[in-house]
Amino acid sequence: MLDRQRINELATADCHIHPDFSIDAKSSAEEHIQRALELGLRKICFTTHIDLDPHRDAADSYMNIHGKWMKQNENAVNIYLAEIDALKEKYSDKLDIVAGFEFSYEPHFAGKVRQFIETFKPSFSIGSVHAVDKLEITSRYFVPAAVRSFSPQKFIREYYNIVIEIARSKMFSVIGHIDGFKKYLPRYWGLSLCENIEGEIIDDVAKKLANAGAIIEVNTSGWRKGLPAPYPFASLIKALVSAGVKIGSIGSDAHIANDLGYRLKDAAEYIIGAIV
Ligand SMILES: [Zn+2]
Ligand SMILES: [Zn+2]
Repeated sequence: MLDRQRINELATADCHIHPDFSIDAKSSAEEHIQRALELGLRKICFTTHIDLDPHRDAADSYMNIHGKWMKQNENAVNIYLAEIDALKEKYSDKLDIVAGFEFSYEPHFAGKVRQFIETFKPSFSIGSVHAVDKLEITSRYFVPAAVRSFSPQKFIREYYNIVIEIARSKMFSVIGHIDGFKKYLPRYWGLSLCENIEGEIIDDVAKKLANAGAIIEVNTSGWRKGLPAPYPFASLIKALVSAGVKIGSIGSDAHIANDLGYRLKDAAEYIIGAIV
C-alpha cells in the first residue's frame, strides 16, 4: 500500500549531496548546510564519491582535502568524516547531518568496496553504477566510448545486471539513480528506444531486485539534466514498487549548494503519481 505520509516525509531530507570533498563538486559542506537551513530541511546526508575501480584509478580515486587532491585513503576519509562530525555537532540543534558516501560499483572491485564499508561503517551509503565493463557512462567526455562498444540492447541488459548485483551485495543503504544511464546515452540512442528495451526486461529486473530486498533512492538530478523525470522514471517506479522494491530516500545529487534540495517535494508528488 502507498504510504503518502512516508513519501512526503522523505522529501524533508536531501540524502544525496556532494560537498567539495568530491573533486567534481564546488561548495563546502558548510555552504550546503546553510542552504539546507534556508530551505528548512529536516536532514541532509553528505555522500562524497568513493571510486575504488583499479582501472580508473588515475581519474577518479581522489578526494579534495582543503584544496589539495589526496588519494581516497584512510587518512583522507578520516579528515572528511571528522569535518562532517564537527559540523554535525555545531548544527545539532538545527539540522540532522549525516556523513555518508556514494560508491561506484562494478562486480570486479566489489571486494574493495566491502572492505571500505567494513572499515568505516558509514551510517548512509549509496551504491551506483557509473561504468559498465569499465566504461564510464555518467561523464559526457567518456560516454562516446561506451556508445562505440555496446548496442543499446546489450548495454541496458548489462547495466541492470550490475544494479541487481548491487542489491544482492546488501552493502548499501540505497541504490543510486537506478536508471542513471539515461543522463547521456539516450542522446545517442534515443530515449524511446532505451525505454522500450528497458520495458522488455524491467519486470524481471524488478522481481530480482525485490527478492534481494532492494531499496532505491529517487534522484532529482534527472530533471536538472533536462530529462522529463527524476531517476527513476515513473514507469520504472511503478514496476519496481509493484514488485516490492522500497523507496528509501530522495536526493538532489547537488554538486553545488544552489542545487541542494532541488525539487524534493516535486519528487514526492511524482512518486505518489507514479504508484497510484
Ligand atoms: Zn552517481
Ligand atoms: Zn552523486
